[in-house]
This record gives sequence, structure tokens and C-alpha cells, in this order.
Amino acid sequence: MVAIARSTAALAPRTAAAAAPPTLRLNSKGAAVTTLQNKLKAAGFNPGAVDGQFGPKTLAAVKAFQKAKGLEADGIAGPKTWSALNKATAPKPSTPTSGGSGPTLREGARGEPVRALQNRLNQLGFNAGTADGSFGPKTEAAVKAFQKAKGLTADGIVGPKTWDKLGIKVTGSVTNPSGGGGGRAVTGYVNGVPRNITVSPIAGGKVMRSDAAAAFNRMHAAAKAAGINLHVNSAFRTMEEQRVLYQKYLNGTGNLAAKPGYSNHQGGIALDINVGGTGTSTYKWLANNASRFGFARTVPSEPWHWEYRP
Ligand SMILES: [Zn+2]
Repeated sequence: MVAIARSTAALAPRTAAAAAPPTLRLNSKGAAVTTLQNKLKAAGFNPGAVDGQFGPKTLAAVKAFQKAKGLEADGIAGPKTWSALNKATAPKPSTPTSGGSGPTLREGARGEPVRALQNRLNQLGFNAGTADGSFGPKTEAAVKAFQKAKGLTADGIVGPKTWDKLGIKVTGSVTNPSGGGGGRAVTGYVNGVPRNITVSPIAGGKVMRSDAAAAFNRMHAAAKAAGINLHVNSAFRTMEEQRVLYQKYLNGTGNLAAKPGYSNHQGGIALDINVGGTGTSTYKWLANNASRFGFARTVPSEPWHWEYRP
């Protein structure tokens, strides 16, 4: 039996022990053996009593551990074995990767929640640029990269699923490009009755009632992510615009148009999307997805006419 002087290395100055754990083998004794036994135990290998004595049980545990890690199973705890043990027993990094929440954010949004988003993305290694509270193209690119890395739909919109993966809880007010605030007060008509509504821009430049605009912009982004471009030919219409269309209809030179004051386009909830018929990929995408965003087809003869009816 080789009881070696080196086994007393456990008594070497602490600094040396911290820099490189001593090589331990059968009959080694001391604090380093206790550490070894604790680590074996933590890694799921039974070293027997944790007593600072490198006996047969500890030897068997070291050999079993080495074998499990593809190391030479010589029962001697040298640098490779220590390294593997440290790796096996290192505390798992506790980066919170789920459980976050916050307001829905997309390009154009401004506010403290955007700043928090940018800081978080930067912290996680996704370059969102300067954390200035303004959701620009760089932030959008970072969001998309993050979503892709997390197996989410890379639409660049920070909704509940993305917040969950970001792992931070954020509150605060946001100004979104449409729907969330801003908006322009106009006179709309519902069933012939004038009423004040607020309209906001939608992708492509037309306007809708602000809540419908926000929903449409979400739908537009989702469609874009699926390779579908939702081109809108008509959205909110003023009384004058509806009069012109109605006159064309009466003259036989335009599509069916509701009497001025009675079109849902004048209420700001209707839009005509360039679907090109019911056989196209655009139409099929809408048929399968529009309801998720609160949109429905309401005129049987017009596959292009959709209304926001959440
Ligand atoms: Zn229409």
C-alpha cells in the first residue's frame, strides 16, 4: 500500500489548496478529502461517511465518478477529476428566463417600459442599442433575434410570450405608434348617426378607429412574419369619401357601396384588404388568422371587406 507523503498536501497552505486542489488517493486524509467526499456526494456518488478519510468506499466512488465522466478510472483524484467534479457540482446559473410581464411593445413605442426592454436585451447579449426608451429598428432587430433564440415567432413585437422569456416584470405607460394614445379626433358615422371617434394610422398609411388600428397593426406584423403582405385599399372614410363611392355605385361605375353615413368604413372599423380572391395565400391567411386579432368577414359578396369586431 502506498501511503504517500503527498497525501498530507491537504495540510498545505490554503492559498495553494484554493489555486489547485491536491491530488488525493487511497489513505489520504484531511479537509481536502472531506471536500472531495462532499463533492462526490453532491454529484450523486456515495463516498461513504464524510470523514476526511480516503477509504475504500471513497475510492470506489472516485472510480465510479471517473468512469461516468469518461476519465481514466484510476481512483486518484487529480486535476482532471477535480475539474470534472467542480463542473458536475457547480450551481446552475440562475438567470431568470421566464416569468416576466409587461405592456405590448412594437416599433415606434416610447416610454419607460421600452427602456427596461432595451436594458434587458443588452444585458442578455442582444444589442438593442442605446437604452433611450424609443423602440427603433435596432431594438426591433434585437427583439427578433431574442425571439428566434427562444423559439418564439420572430415578429419583433414584445407581447406576453416574449415578456415571459425576458424574465422581468415591467409596468409603466407607453405611447404606441397607434392605438395606445395619440390618434386624431374625427367625425365618424354609425348607422347614420355622427359620432366623435379617434383614428390612428395603420401600416400602409391609411387610418382606422384607434383600437382597430392597433389590432390591425398587430395582425399586419404577424402576417408579414408569415410572408403575407396585407395591403389595405380602404379603411376609415369621411362622409365626403363615402358620398363619392356611393355615387359611383349608383352610376354603375363602382362596387357596391353603402349609403353615406351607413358604411362601417365611416365608423372606422372596416377595411378593404387587397386579397385578390378567396384562393390566394393572403385570403387563406386571413381566413385562418384574422379572428385572433378581432377581425371578421362581414359581407358575403366581398372577400376583401373585413371588420374589427373583437
Ligand atoms: Zn369595405
